[in-house]
Amino acid sequence: MPTAVSDPVVAETPIEPQRKTKAFNSFQIAQTQFDKVAEYLGLDPATRELLRYPLREYQFAIPVRMDDGSVKIFRGFRVQHNDARGPGKGGIRFHPQETIDTVRALSMWMTWKCAVVDIPLGGAKGGVICDPHNLSAREQEQICRGWVRQVARNVGPITDVPAPDVMTNAQHMLWILDEFEHIHGGRFPGFITGKPVGMGGSQGRTEATGYGVVFTLREALKELDLRPENTSASVQGFGNVAQYAIELYQRLGGKVIAVSCWDQADQTSYTYLKREGVNLEQLLSITDRFGGINKEKAKSLGYELLPGDAWLEQNVEILIPAAIENQITGDNVGKIKPSVRIIVEGANGPTTPEADTQIRQRGILLIPDFLANAGGVTCSYFEQVQSNMNYFWEKDEVLGKLDVKMTAAYFAVSELARREKLYMRDAAYAIAIGRVAKACHERGWV
Ligand code: NAD
Repeated sequence: MPTAVSDPVVAETPIEPQRKTKAFNSFQIAQTQFDKVAEYLGLDPATRELLRYPLREYQFAIPVRMDDGSVKIFRGFRVQHNDARGPGKGGIRFHPQETIDTVRALSMWMTWKCAVVDIPLGGAKGGVICDPHNLSAREQEQICRGWVRQVARNVGPITDVPAPDVMTNAQHMLWILDEFEHIHGGRFPGFITGKPVGMGGSQGRTEATGYGVVFTLREALKELDLRPENTSASVQGFGNVAQYAIELYQRLGGKVIAVSCWDQADQTSYTYLKREGVNLEQLLSITDRFGGINKEKAKSLGYELLPGDAWLEQNVEILIPAAIENQITGDNVGKIKPSVRIIVEGANGPTTPEADTQIRQRGILLIPDFLANAGGVTCSYFEQVQSNMNYFWEKDEVLGKLDVKMTAAYFAVSELARREKLYMRDAAYAIAIGRVAKACHERGWV
């Protein structure tokens, strides 16, 4: 069982793709993506206007007495893009470069992500402009408590449910929950997800994203009439998502011949190749908690050390980018071998638009990020349900329900893609946006 990564309860939400350019505005990108699908779906002008912008936004000050006695004012945000299908869901990020537009975009992407897996939640996102590296634990606690004091009346188990995200973790969630419960005078574990197991967290959350990736992959293989035992895969990343994806794919009979990861000491990435198939347990025993493999030990275990992007150039049927954004680009997409039949995006935004166009032209089946890696948010939804009931399921039950949800979501997207001859990414957006638009219509909003 993979164990090398310590705090997997992060990033249930998309990170913004294409973060490289200076002028990049993620909210404009999110709106452009939306406009394209709205056109395809023929949405009426009022629905377009409604869904192009968040329903509600909160921007506020969080005064904190610092350890040196001075008072510092932090800026906080919560954006609720849409809650027509259920309470808002989305993480709280601590980031020095946080902006309202980033939070808006991320909240919109959460709406589509929850809708594509058909969980009864909407999209929201929050943040604080701060850098936890320069803050003591007490100062971070004050920011968490200050954040929720400002929005305590506008969030909650039946309105808007936060989660950990970039630079926030289970401890931050417990501080926020504790303050919320002080304000409202009760116990409301369903207010927040990403809690530790035993404090309202769900079994199976650690495995959920990686397993979800493979549940969708398993269905894609069936559609292409490929048996897992006759396939091999190459994986970028060896963190939480990659480790559990590899574990389940190997249990299905597949062979992983290469993994790549970041090397902190050399400040570059390497690919570790073993043609007869990597041994997961052995690799985990030489991997740090950030998903970095010890290269000397790997070499002594017979792994061939190759440049970081060699993972993309292997003669395999399946590629699993599960590291970071913008990895398959216009420059390297041509290196993908003709043997590749499926790309399943474990990471958020691993494929740039130029690469996307070529992958589509080559007829490779691509399972898009916000479908493939939605196992995390689906399990967070299960955490919310269990917390609201105050009754917690065994791991098998959680993972069984996760399989059902992910498989159904895959089928819906794949069926539409086939019927309308759409690329899987476009089909996934069409389903998600169509569902949210329908909920807004049925409520009589537009
Ligand atoms: P992680 O931090 O546990 O692991 C990241 C891995 O990527 C590490 O092995 C690291 O060495 C590797 N990596 C970093 N830069 C690399 C590079 N340039 N080349 C090769 N490898 C590199 O992260 P994670 O939780 O596994 O998340 C991976 C991706 O999946 C991210 O895009 C994240 O946003 C997304 N995601 C994660 C979850 C979740 O529940 N963990 C849910 C949805 C989406």
